[in-house]
Amino acid sequence: MKVLTYHNIDTPPKEAKLKTLYVKPSKFDKQLKILKMLNYKTPSLTDIKFTKKEILLTFDDGYKDFIEKSFPIIKKHNFKAIVFIVTDLVGSYNRWDWEKLNVKKLLMDWKDIEYIQKEGIEIGSHTLTHPFLTKIEIKEAKKEIENSKKILEDKLGTEITSFCYPYGDYNEKIRDLVEEAGYRYAFTTKDGSFEMSDDPFQIKRITVFGNLLLPQFIFKVLR
Ligand SMILES: [Zn+2]
Repeated sequence: MKVLTYHNIDTPPKEAKLKTLYVKPSKFDKQLKILKMLNYKTPSLTDIKFTKKEILLTFDDGYKDFIEKSFPIIKKHNFKAIVFIVTDLVGSYNRWDWEKLNVKKLLMDWKDIEYIQKEGIEIGSHTLTHPFLTKIEIKEAKKEIENSKKILEDKLGTEITSFCYPYGDYNEKIRDLVEEAGYRYAFTTKDGSFEMSDDPFQIKRITVFGNLLLPQFIFKVLR
């Protein structure tokens, strides 16, 4: 199984640094069209069979452009996706890296999140505040991992089974805290595919950057 990571589906604002985090909507549309042609399926997390034809579309951070730009394209192709939410910053902006990126990116509010969930998008946790989990006290890390799950479950009335490490930052202790909190899957930023025998708390992904050409995209997916 392959897991793709996206950040923003949008045209990058002029002032933004790291413009490769943005994939243009027209390009995203073509990528999904190709996945459909190649007969890829996006299973729900409760229904993963770990086959070669399964692919997960994951979106980190829960940006407002997800509901505006990504979601209509995902829906058009009849795919599913997972969005990882920073629960203390719902309805706010990317406080953790706006200075570094030189752009304040709006995050979805609870109404948005409830709406996309009703429409079949899966919601996962991306902590409370998007910290480097190995650089804060264990007690704090535990809170970030456990409380974000509780908040999402209370707000959305469903079990939250997936977690995504902010900045891909984790170690053995953090990995264990995620498992102990009751999650079933945790996603990293390590590059690669995911086999059934792999640790479900260290799932590798393929980041799709905006400058990736379509043949390169196909190569990455089929590799
Ligand atoms: Zn993130």
